[in-house]
Amino acid sequence: MKDVYDCIIVGGGPVGLWLSCELKLAGLRVVVVERRTQRINQSRALTIHGRTLEVLSLRGIEERFLAVGKPVRSGHYAVLDTRLDFDIFDSRFPYTLFIPQETTEALIEEFALELGVEILRGAMAERIVSESDGVTVSGANERPFELHGRYLVGADGARSLVRAEAGIEFQGHAGSGTWFMGDVVLASPPDAPLVSAFNEHGCVLIAPLGDGIHHRIVVNEADDHGRTRQDALTLEELCQATARVVGSDFGAHSPLWLSRFDNETRLAKSYRSEKVFLAGDAAHIHLPAGGQGMNVGIQDAMNLGWKLAAVAKGTAPAELLDTYESERLPVGIYLRDTTMAQSQLITAFSARGRALRGVFNDMLKVPAINAYFANQVSGFAVHYPDPLPGFGPVGSTLVGSRIRDMPLKLSDGRDATLFGLLSKGQWLDLTLSEDGKVERPNWLHPDSVVEARGVATAHADAVGDVGALLIRPDGYVAQTSVSTSRREG
Ligand SMILES: Cc1cc2nc3c(=O)[nH]c(=O)nc-3n(C[C@H](O)[C@H](O)[C@H](O)COP(=O)(O)OP(=O)(O)OC[C@H]3O[C@@H](n4cnc5c(N)ncnc54)[C@H](O)[C@@H]3O)c2cc1C
Repeated sequence: MKDVYDCIIVGGGPVGLWLSCELKLAGLRVVVVERRTQRINQSRALTIHGRTLEVLSLRGIEERFLAVGKPVRSGHYAVLDTRLDFDIFDSRFPYTLFIPQETTEALIEEFALELGVEILRGAMAERIVSESDGVTVSGANERPFELHGRYLVGADGARSLVRAEAGIEFQGHAGSGTWFMGDVVLASPPDAPLVSAFNEHGCVLIAPLGDGIHHRIVVNEADDHGRTRQDALTLEELCQATARVVGSDFGAHSPLWLSRFDNETRLAKSYRSEKVFLAGDAAHIHLPAGGQGMNVGIQDAMNLGWKLAAVAKGTAPAELLDTYESERLPVGIYLRDTTMAQSQLITAFSARGRALRGVFNDMLKVPAINAYFANQVSGFAVHYPDPLPGFGPVGSTLVGSRIRDMPLKLSDGRDATLFGLLSKGQWLDLTLSEDGKVERPNWLHPDSVVEARGVATAHADAVGDVGALLIRPDGYVAQTSVSTSRREG
């Protein structure tokens, strides 16, 4: 007999695991199918950006990450000397958190298991069959498995089987040139915590891995000596290339991981085919410049989760699911373009190229330009033009943007936080003045909404003269009403 789920997620990486939490929180029967029996200790992603920390905070688990990560208050754009200033963010998290992907995945999986998500490890999805009432996924485990779901999400990474089986094109550009990286122990670490060097010989980035033992060295040499991504990397090659660019290999030894990658860039033509959705690397791959892929993927999951849950439970119209692609594909397009632009700048080793970098470097010294790129890289700039489908953008300029967290004194005397009120994955109808009132769509089920009345005891300026807000489960403002009293006050 087939097991029947509301949703099957293929892929237990950070994106699939986060989506499983969102769906389970909403009460869906969800299973994650993951081919690996154990998590690998080779961490690709090293950073969690501010907006993703807000996402974790929206579900009340940010402290688990803050306890083991290291905040860094700036970032790089194309390894330019002028760093992006993250101190400017109006957020509880004005930084990026250095934390190995292995730890990030472990902490998300811990949360998923606490919520009761079923995770099928050692299960390789091999066949996907679409049927009128859903999708059947089958493959091999210790014994063959066959699962039936009303919906299927492919969070199965760059070489996604789900994407291929759904016939969705992965359009883009093959890789050119190779980068290489080593997670190593440094006998003589550099004085500065972060090193970024760029000259006619190449480009080197060095950063602590976040485990207190290893550093990551990333190198792109002007002359790649004909190597391709498939060639094995040796410690000797890493050390020699590092020394050619920065004059020292810092005594690198005991590699945890040596690997090559390139700037292959692709975007799914569509994020959906009927009952099948794509999220994370299954939908977009690119040069890992600025540490964005996992962050954007987790935010794909945050966008899809509440929509899929509401439609599966019959508490929202099916058209709501169309907004997953209309909201997230533009984010993927920007990600594709900004990482291709960075790829071009990071390989501009010629005299003319370095002059171009000099111009970009000067531009980043202009605070407004620096802030623009800092907000883009960190995910704070994401804006959804029509955040309440069928309603049109109603209210202030906050509509469509993410709301920051703020402490509240509720009208019944309780202390609360805005994010705390969203922590169960419901909508929030928050009234901040006597005359504040938002209109809810008819389809929004009362059980899906937390109603609260009160005042912000800090950061009230973040909402300006708004008297009431309707906030989506993913923390984006759906609608506001302006308060005469707050405006006059
Ligand atoms: C060198 C490097 C550095 C990076 N640094 C950063 C960074 O600092 N910040 C950042 O945000 N991003 C970074 N990235 C990108 C980041 O690692 C990815 O974007 C992220 O892992 C995507 O997560 P995912 O869950 O979508 O896919 P994946 O992490 O690839 O997970 C997919 C999962 O699906 C499973 N799977 C695949 N096929 C099947 C199947 N048929 N059946 C069952 N299971 C299957 C896989 O085993 C895997 O566990 C970096 C990437 C690289 C290469």
